[in-house]
Amino acid sequence: MTIIRVALAVPVDSLFDYRADRAGPGDIGQRVLVPFGKTSAVGVIMDVTSASTVPEHKLRHVLRVLRDAPRLSREDLRLLEFAADYYRYPLGRAVMETLPARLRRTKDSPARKQTGGYLLTVAGAALTPADLPVRASIQHRLLERLRRGALDSAEARRLSRHERGVLKRFLDRGWIEWRQAVTSPRSAALAEPPATPALNSEQTAAVDAIRSGLGAYRPFLLLGVTGSGKTEVYLHAIAAALAQGQQALLLVPEIALTPQLETLVARRFPGARIVSLHSGLTETERLAHWLATANGQARIILGTRLAVFAPLPDLGLIVVDEEQDGSFKQSDGFRYSARDLAVARARQRNIPVVLGTATPAFETYHNAVTSRYTMLRLTQRIGAPPPRIDCVDTRNQKLADGLSSELLAALRQRMEAGDQSLVFINRRGYAPVLMCRHCGWISGCHRCSAQLVLHLRERELRCHHCGHVAPAPAGCPGCGNADLSPVGQGTQRVEEALARQFPSARILRIDRDTTSRRLAWPAMRGRIERREVDILVGTQILAKGHDFPHLNLVGVLNADSRLYSNDFRAAEHLYALLTQVAGRAGRGGARGQVLIQTEFPHHPLYTALVRQDFQAFAESALAERQQAGFPPFVHQALLRAEAPRLATALEFLDEAARNARSLDAQIALYDPVPAAMPRRAGRERAQLLVQSASRPRLRDFLSAWHGALSAIRATRARWSLDVDPIDF
Ligand code: ADP
Ligand code: ZN
Ligand code: ZN
Repeated sequence: MTIIRVALAVPVDSLFDYRADRAGPGDIGQRVLVPFGKTSAVGVIMDVTSASTVPEHKLRHVLRVLRDAPRLSREDLRLLEFAADYYRYPLGRAVMETLPARLRRTKDSPARKQTGGYLLTVAGAALTPADLPVRASIQHRLLERLRRGALDSAEARRLSRHERGVLKRFLDRGWIEWRQAVTSPRSAALAEPPATPALNSEQTAAVDAIRSGLGAYRPFLLLGVTGSGKTEVYLHAIAAALAQGQQALLLVPEIALTPQLETLVARRFPGARIVSLHSGLTETERLAHWLATANGQARIILGTRLAVFAPLPDLGLIVVDEEQDGSFKQSDGFRYSARDLAVARARQRNIPVVLGTATPAFETYHNAVTSRYTMLRLTQRIGAPPPRIDCVDTRNQKLADGLSSELLAALRQRMEAGDQSLVFINRRGYAPVLMCRHCGWISGCHRCSAQLVLHLRERELRCHHCGHVAPAPAGCPGCGNADLSPVGQGTQRVEEALARQFPSARILRIDRDTTSRRLAWPAMRGRIERREVDILVGTQILAKGHDFPHLNLVGVLNADSRLYSNDFRAAEHLYALLTQVAGRAGRGGARGQVLIQTEFPHHPLYTALVRQDFQAFAESALAERQQAGFPPFVHQALLRAEAPRLATALEFLDEAARNARSLDAQIALYDPVPAAMPRRAGRERAQLLVQSASRPRLRDFLSAWHGALSAIRATRARWSLDVDPIDF
C-alpha cells in the first residue's frame, strides 16, 4: 500500500496520511488534491511511505496528484521543515503559505483573462490587522488576502457586494491601488547600454573572496559605509555565480526599492532572465515568476523576505542587502527571519551567502568578529568624502518652531548655493498629541494605550496603531476650552515651520501620508531629481537606498526620544537609522553635512555617530549586552498573549510559566508582564520572555513547551510564540 504524507494549510503540527496507489517517491514535493472533511484541499506531498499510524479503513484516497507545476525539491522541503520547526509554526501552513496563491486553490482555470489587479500601497503594506476595527471581519479578510499579493480582476469580480464595498473604502483611504497588468520590466531597461565601473581595491578583494567561496557554505558580512559601492560587489559576485551556471537570489528589504534595482540589474545582465518576487505582484505575475524560478529559467531572483523560500534548482549564491532591516522578520503569523533563513539555506545548499550593510545587526556583527562569518570591509565612500556629522546642542537655546539657529543657518546657506536639504523627523502628522492646558485633557485612543496624532491638514485625530480616526475637536471635550494645544512635532508641522522660515523655498513633504498613492513617489522622485525641490521633509521612507545627487545637508529632529527606551535594541536601531539618513547627504561628489539636534550631545551613541565609528559603538554596546545577558549572548523567544482583559492574558502566561518550569529548570524565565503597548485595538496584551545561552537547548524546550501550551484549554487568551523576537 502506498501512503503519502501531506502538508495542508491547517493550524496543526501534523501531516495527513492518504492512500495514493499510483504515487511514487518521485512525487515528493508535488501538489496534490485530497478530500478534507466534507470538502477538498490542496496540499504538498512531504513523504511517500508504505505504512501509516491511521487504521487502514480510515485512510482516504487522494483525488489527484497535480503535476501541472514543478514540484518542490527535497532541499526546498527541508528548508520549510527547518523553518516551521525553528519558528514553531504549523508545517502545513508554512508550506502552503509560501506557495503562490494560484497553486493553493482547489480549482483554478489558468486561462482566465487577467487585465490587472489591486495591490497594497506603501501605506497599505504598513497596516497590520491591529490597524483595522476588531469586528470588521471583511476588512480583516481582505487585508490578509492583499498581504499575500495582488488581487487580480477575476478574483475581485468573484467577491461579494460587501467585499467590493470594502475594497472601494481601501481605495479611498489610499491603502490599495489598481494596477494594469505589467509588461516585462526588462523592456524599458534594455535601451541603455550597461555601464560597469572598474572596481576599487577593496571592492575587488570582496568580490574575489566571494567568488572563491562559490560552491561551499560560507557566510560573509560585507560591512561597507554608505556609498561605498556594495551594490557593485553584489553584481560582480552574481556575475561569477551566473558564469558557473548557477542562479542567484538577491533579497532586499523594500518593494519600493525593487523597481530601481530591477532596472539596474537588468541593464547589467541583458542575457539573463531576471524576475522579482514580492507582494506587489498580481497573482498571475507571482505565479509566472515563481514558475520561472522553479524551472530554472530565471537566473537572478530579486525579492523581499518571502522570496527566501522560492524554489531554486541551481541556487549558487544568496545576497541579503541591508541585512539589519526589520522588514526581513515577519511580524505576525509565520514569524520567520528571511535573513537568518538565508544563512540556513546557504548552509543546507553548501553555497556562500553575503549579508551587506553599513550597520549590521549586532547578531551578525558578533558572528563576524567571532569568525563564524567572514568579514569583508569597504571603508571608502566612492567619489566623495564621508559626510561631516555634528550634534547641535539644543539645551540652551530657544528653538524657532523646533528648529535650531544652526540648522536654520545651514539651510539658508544651502538654499543660496542651490543645493537640496533634507529635514528628517520620524513622525508623521502635525503633532503627536493634542492637549488642553486648562484641564489637562489629552487626545488618547480609546482602543490603544497610545495618543491620537493630530493631522491638521485633514483636521483629524488618528491612531497610528489601530487606524482609529476621529475629527479634530474644535474645543476641549473635557472642559470646553476653545484653545487646544498641539504638543510636539510631526512632518506636517515641520513643513509649515519651514515654509514660515523660508517663504521662497520649494518644500516637499515625504511620508506615508503623501506617498500612499501609487505613482505619487515616482513623481516626487522626478521633482527631486530635476531640482524642483529645495527642502525635503521626510520620515524613514527617505532613509533607505535613495540616491539624490544634489542633496548635501541633512538635519535630524527629535531623535532623542528613542535614546532612552525599554527595548534593549533601541540604540542599535537608532544608530542604523541615523547612519542611513546621514548617508543621503553628499552622494553627488560634494561633502555632505549632517546636523543632529539633541539635548544629549555627549551620549555615546551620538559621539560614535559623529566619528562614524560603528565598530566602537557596536563593541561597547556588545560588552554591555554580554554583561546584562542579552542577545546575541543568549537566545530568546517571546510568548505573547492577548485577551479582552489583561488578567486573562496574564493568567494564561502564569500557567505557561509553571509549565515551562516543570519542563526545563535551566531555561531562564522572565515574569509575565504587560506588553510595551499593553492595549492595542481594544485588546490587552502581555508577554513572557524565555531565554537560554544554548540555542539547541532553547529549541528543544520550545518544541516541548509549544505542545504543552496547545494543550492548555479553557483560555480566552490568544497566544503566539515569537522565536528570536526583535520587537517587544
Ligand atoms: P552603497 O550600496 O554601498 O551605499 P552604492 O552601491 O549605491 O553604495 O554605490 C554608490 C555609488 O557609487 C553608485 O552610484 C555606484 O554606481 C557608484 N560606484 C560603485 N562602485 C564604483 C566604482 N568602483 N567606481 C565608480 N563608481 C562606483
Ligand atoms: Zn480642557
Ligand atoms: Zn488606537
